[in-house]
Amino acid sequence: MAPAALIFDVDGTLAETEHEGHRPAFNEAFREAGLDWRWDEDLYGELLAVTGGKERIRRYIERHRPGFRPPAGVSLDELVARLHRAKNAAFARRVREGALGLRPGVARLLREARAAGVPLAIATTTSPENVEALLRHTLGADAPGWFDVVVAGDMVSAKKPSPEVYERAVQALGVDPGRCVAFEDSAHGVAAARGAGVPVVVTPSHYTRGEDFDGAILVVEHLGEPGSPARVLDGTAAARVGPRCVVDLALLAGLVAGTGASAGGAAR
Ligand SMILES: [Mg+2]
Repeated sequence: MAPAALIFDVDGTLAETEHEGHRPAFNEAFREAGLDWRWDEDLYGELLAVTGGKERIRRYIERHRPGFRPPAGVSLDELVARLHRAKNAAFARRVREGALGLRPGVARLLREARAAGVPLAIATTTSPENVEALLRHTLGADAPGWFDVVVAGDMVSAKKPSPEVYERAVQALGVDPGRCVAFEDSAHGVAAARGAGVPVVVTPSHYTRGEDFDGAILVVEHLGEPGSPARVLDGTAAARVGPRCVVDLALLAGLVAGTGASAGGAAR
């Protein structure tokens, strides 16, 4: 039986948004605000331990700019919110300009699920505007409508690794969480999905490669394409799936059923 729904994280999972999108966008926002702050790869890797853009700016100020005071008449909250808005605008600009593409296999799997009538959902802490911009510019103007449920940004009170974002998504879909599949690129995301009882497939991204994805059913380098299957890296079902695979509905059905992939599901 096909999975009850596919639920996708956005950043790092649909696209390398952190590496190619968010980090440069933060730097653009700082420059526009006349701040000499510059987040390099190492620093950004450190800040990714904090979920949420506003939270990352706060952490940066606390850790790296302890003496910083906002301009007169502006509270720190306002400044952080303003920077975050500017950063989102810069991110949207990068998306519009085509600086970000979907990771291998993402468009293929989304289209396959749509054709088969498998509901799609988004579970992310990135803003709804970012999600919409990314979907529109990578998949087409109607792509935001492909998703039955989008839980994004500040719609939940606790960000990943809290399971709240997945609990909300599953509830809105009205499905059994154990029959869904979540797609994530980070340990925080795995914890969030598992906390809500949703099996997780992990495609590690630029900044998450060294993380521990304990509990994931499958860890693959990416979702793979026919003729270019992905390397299977780890996961409780890794042995059943084999060394390489294309993550498609047949494979996912096998994973959710706990019986392993059918011969048709795994490209060998
Ligand atoms: Mg992510």
